Amino acid sequence: MSEMVRMQHTLAQTAVVEGFGFWTGQDIRVEFHPAHANAGLFFVRIDLPGLPIIPVSPNFQIIKPRQTSLATDDAQVDMVEHLLAALHGLEIDNCEIRVNAPEMPGMDGSSQAFTAAILKAGIITQSAIRQKRIVYKTLRVGDDEHWIEAKPSYNGRTTFVYHLDYGDNNAIPQQSYRFIVNPENFILQLMSCRTFLTKKEAEQLLAAGLCSRVSPHDVLVFDENQQPIDNTLLYADECARHKTLDMVGDFSLGACDWVGEFTAYRSGHHLNVECVRELLKKTVCIESNVVSSHTNTFRVASKAI
Ligand SMILES: [Zn+2]
Repeated sequence: MSEMVRMQHTLAQTAVVEGFGFWTGQDIRVEFHPAHANAGLFFVRIDLPGLPIIPVSPNFQIIKPRQTSLATDDAQVDMVEHLLAALHGLEIDNCEIRVNAPEMPGMDGSSQAFTAAILKAGIITQSAIRQKRIVYKTLRVGDDEHWIEAKPSYNGRTTFVYHLDYGDNNAIPQQSYRFIVNPENFILQLMSCRTFLTKKEAEQLLAAGLCSRVSPHDVLVFDENQQPIDNTLLYADECARHKTLDMVGDFSLGACDWVGEFTAYRSGHHLNVECVRELLKKTVCIESNVVSSHTNTFRVASKAI
């Protein structure tokens, strides 16, 4: 029974990541500070008067294209998904994320820099149980073009499956990826997978005055021949892996461990967060090792790194 319970984690000491924002080109410093048990994940904008806090929750999501953004009446944080994927992927449940700008550093478009900084700082186990939500009934959000389906897991594993399909003649070829959620797999399979776009999309962003500091060395830009410009793929299915990484980041907004099989077809950040919102309404939170016999088949790894 004890292996069904996972204790909460925070950082052993402060971790720092510095880089520029893809959208604004601004130099940005983000600090990951340890936080007490049950504090959750939350941002603090240290560049603004009063040091406003923005909780990591679907209640604070605002819609911005191609990224996950959170806002309160006082402050906003943008492009949070890759940073949150590192925290959620490593099972860091409590962290005060201090940032001196609205946007997170883009780094190489993956979670690698955030993950490396957190691992270097160290992870400690706390004396509180991590909340867990188990999918008992199939739930689906989206439409025929883009959807996510959450199903019960009959082996106790949490799985994210992503199907990328932009059509037969797209610069980015069809591909799928299946990820069994745990920190070791996150480090080995997902953390380094970079964000991507087509050459046409890159040209449109530059023409709109956006992303002018970003080059094809920083992110994957695909030409008409389905090849990255001035860059090399880490994996043939790096794009599907990156979309899976985005799911890990966006599902952190639920502030819990999810137990289920989550399959996404062409979903993006908005639909990911909509799925989290629906799951929070329709799943029951379990936060102790006192569980019914119905959950006996659900076993979740509680491995600390
Ligand atoms: Zn992404």
